[in-house]
Amino acid sequence: MKEIQIVRDTVLNQQYAINDLYRYNLEQNKTYFIVTFGCQMNEHDSEKMMGLLELCGFKKADSEESADVVIFNTCAVRENAELKIYGNIGRIKKIKEKRDVILGLCGCMMQQKHIIEKIKKSYPYVDIIFGTHNYHELPMYINEVLFKKNKIVNLLEDSKAIIEDLPSKRKKGVKAFVNIMQGCNNFCTFCIVPYTRGREKSREYGDIIKEIEELVRSGVKEVTLLGQNVNSYSGGITFAELLEKINEIEGLERIRFMTSHPKDISDEVIDKFGKLEKLCEYLHLPVQSGSNEILKRMNRRYTHEAYLEKINKLKKNVPEMTFSTDIIIGFPGESEADVDKTIELIKEVEYDSAFTFIYSKRVGTPAATFDDDVSDDEKHQRFDRMLNALNDIVIRKNSERVGKVYEVLVEAVDDNTKLATGRSRENHLISFHAQNVSVGDLVDVTIVKAKKFSLEGEMI
Ligand code: SF4
Repeated sequence: MKEIQIVRDTVLNQQYAINDLYRYNLEQNKTYFIVTFGCQMNEHDSEKMMGLLELCGFKKADSEESADVVIFNTCAVRENAELKIYGNIGRIKKIKEKRDVILGLCGCMMQQKHIIEKIKKSYPYVDIIFGTHNYHELPMYINEVLFKKNKIVNLLEDSKAIIEDLPSKRKKGVKAFVNIMQGCNNFCTFCIVPYTRGREKSREYGDIIKEIEELVRSGVKEVTLLGQNVNSYSGGITFAELLEKINEIEGLERIRFMTSHPKDISDEVIDKFGKLEKLCEYLHLPVQSGSNEILKRMNRRYTHEAYLEKINKLKKNVPEMTFSTDIIIGFPGESEADVDKTIELIKEVEYDSAFTFIYSKRVGTPAATFDDDVSDDEKHQRFDRMLNALNDIVIRKNSERVGKVYEVLVEAVDDNTKLATGRSRENHLISFHAQNVSVGDLVDVTIVKAKKFSLEGEMI
C-alpha cells in the first residue's frame, strides 16, 4: 500500500490540453464513440474516458460511422475478442478514406508488445495506442494528433499510481460499478491479466466511500465493487471492513462485488453475508475447473474440496444464496475424468449461471508453453457435456421458483408495453407488468412463470 501513489486533480493538471481541445471541439461540433470489449473493468475505464471526452467538449455520436474520434477499448482475455478488434480496425479504415477520423486503441490488448508491433506494421493508420495505465491522458493524445499531426504510441508497463478525481460518464441508471482496486498478483497460468493490468493496487477507502455517496445522491441504489481480486483489497482497511462501511451509507440499497478469488475469500467476508442487510445474497466465485489436477496446472491454489467448503459455509449462513462462476474447458492436459469432476462440482454447488469458455492460448502466459493435447473436437464435445449439465440445473432451479416472492430493483420500464424488468437480490432477472412503478423502485414480485434463463412475475 505504501508504495502506491494516489494522484489527484489530474484533470486540472491537463488543463492546457483540455482548454485547447474544448474550444476547438465546441466550435467544430466534434463527436466521439467508444466501443468496449471485455469485462466490467473495461466498461468502467470507458465510462471514465467518456467523462473526460465530454469535459473536452466532445458529444457522444450515435455510432462509429459518424464519430470524429473512435476508440476501441480492447480485451486480451480470449482469442475471439482479439480477432474482433482486427475486424473493427479494418472497418474504420474505410471510413478514414472518406473523411478525417481519429482512431485510438487502448486497453489490455495494447499492453502486449507483439500486438503493438503487429498494429504498427499492418494497420499504420491507427492514430493513438495506449494501455490500461494511462487512459486519463487521452485528451493530451488527441491534442497531439489534432494540432500537431503526431501519432501516439504510449505503453506503460505498470504504474504504481491510482488516478483519482476523474470525471466519469456512467449510463444513467440505478446501478453503478465502483472500482476499488486494480491489477492482480495471482498469476493463474492461463491468464494474461497480471501482465496487462499490472500488480494489485487499492484505492484509499475514503475515496471509495465518497464516490458511492455521490452516486447515491445522483439516484444510484445498487453498487458493484470491482477488482480482479477484491478479497485482497488493502486501501487502509480490509475488504470486510470496507463492506461494513459501505453498508452504512444512507440511501444505498444493495451491494455486490466481483471478482473474488476462491482461495482469498476470508471467513470474515463470508460472515458478512446474512449480516450486512445491503449485501446481496449472490456471489460470483470463479472455479475454472472441478479437477484438482487441472486446478494445480492452472496455479489456482485451492482444491475442489476447499472451494466446496467455502460454498457450503455461505449456504449455511444464507440458505437462499445463489452462485455464478467461470469455467474453462479444454485446458492443456485435460482428460474426460477432469471434465467429470467439473460436472460433479457444478451439481454440488448448483450454480445459477456461469461464464463458460473453451480454452484458448494467450501468448505470454505460462500455459501457452504447455502441450495443448486436447483436440478441437474433444473440446467442443466436453464443452457441450458440461453445458448440458449446467443448463439442466439452471432450468430446474428456475422452475422451482414459481410461487416464490422476490424483491426486485426496477431497472427499466417499457413505456409502451408497461413491462418492467429488474433483478432480485439473488440476481434473478425478473420481468412483470408494472403498475405505478418507476425505475429505482423496490417492488415485491411473485414468480408466475419460469423461462429458461429468466423469470416472469406479478407485482404484489
Ligand atoms: S486471479 Fe487469476 S484469473 Fe483472476 S485476474 Fe488474477 S491471474 Fe487472472
